[in-house]
Amino acid sequence: MKEFDYIIVGGGCSGLSLAYELEIFDKLKGKTLGIIEPREDYKRDKTWSFWRVFSHNFDDCVKKSWNNFTINTPNETKYVKCSSTPYQTIDSGLFYEKILSRLKLNKNIHFLKNINEVDTKNSFCFNSVPRIENMQSELWQHFCGVEIETDKDFFDDEIFNLMDFACDQRNKVHFFYTLPFTKRNALIETTWISDLNDEKLKDYDNQIDDYLNKHLNIRNCKINYKETGAIPLFRQNNKKKINEIHIGTAGGMTRLSTGYTFLNIQEQSRYIRENIENIKNVNLYKIQSKYDFLDKILLKVLKNNSNEMGNIFFKVFDSNPKTAINFLSNRSNLFEDFEVILKMPKWKFLKEII
Ligand SMILES: Cc1cc2nc3c(=O)[nH]c(=O)nc-3n(C[C@H](O)[C@H](O)[C@H](O)COP(=O)(O)OP(=O)(O)OC[C@H]3O[C@@H](n4cnc5c(N)ncnc54)[C@H](O)[C@@H]3O)c2cc1C
Repeated sequence: MKEFDYIIVGGGCSGLSLAYELEIFDKLKGKTLGIIEPREDYKRDKTWSFWRVFSHNFDDCVKKSWNNFTINTPNETKYVKCSSTPYQTIDSGLFYEKILSRLKLNKNIHFLKNINEVDTKNSFCFNSVPRIENMQSELWQHFCGVEIETDKDFFDDEIFNLMDFACDQRNKVHFFYTLPFTKRNALIETTWISDLNDEKLKDYDNQIDDYLNKHLNIRNCKINYKETGAIPLFRQNNKKKINEIHIGTAGGMTRLSTGYTFLNIQEQSRYIRENIENIKNVNLYKIQSKYDFLDKILLKVLKNNSNEMGNIFFKVFDSNPKTAINFLSNRSNLFEDFEVILKMPKWKFLKEII
């Protein structure tokens, strides 16, 4: 069995982000790293988007960036500007290619398929494999998106739609999300916040067809790419080990109210790189507990008032857009927190706290 100084279990977003961060900051000099990843090949499988509230290593993997967006309820549309923190979309295919081509230059980095191939006794392990079996009845953000190409100009590619609640709700939280990459090419995603037990909510193809035909009036289009996913909106119980840290989704990097994880992963990677020499003794990197507290209340409100989500997000963006974006990206100060909290339907939130 092989031995390494560091082992990364799972070569997905967080595993590769961390390996890249360590490599470009020379933290792997004189060290060996094993990356355990079962997948046979890497291809585009996710589209990661976020407001760019700080710089990251992957600007050259950005497929498109926007300075404006909308939120829709059946009765209203809100226009929001975000030019100081543009909304970026990263193509995971470009991300994997960039990182893997750099890591392959380092002869001390080895890719393996199974943890049984390595001896973990004397290594420090960064584990990104979530423990989410039998968690179907918890809350998830589950979705399916298609990237379509139309035969004539259709989209305004200067503005994306963050949430469109003018769709079938079925007593759950449901919205569509549209990222127009060009005038003829867009990712359109049907998104639910619910448990995963109700199979009836997963007729995603019908939902998308319906939205394209009846709502957007698109009759002729080609589907070039499809992605499905489910992001856990709950924290996982990881067994504590002295020589292991959980990273990525498994390491609590998901913002529970929104599912945003990508930029938190980049912050976690940066923190680990800054502390790698003393990693056994430093505190774990965490999303601030105030966000977990507020998000859990919000999720309870949504569970009992699923029709409120559109209204709540409308109200969040009644605040100054910068404040709302800072809040949703875990960068808000106390004043900004209050500005957002004061916009919420107070009685519904208080009822869930008491
Ligand atoms: C389709 C999709 C779209 C998303 N879009 C966004 C977005 O727009 N913005 C955002 O902020 N977040 C988004 N997320 C959430 C989050 O950013 C991603 O899930 C991100 O990939 C999480 O990174 P991770 O490293 O935790 O998990 P992953 O990227 O899934 O990596 C885990 C890796 O572990 C490997 N693995 C599994 N089992 C084992 C095992 N037993 N041993 C070793 N390896 C194993 C897997 O093959 C995988 O490569 C999205 C999630 C999905 C699923």
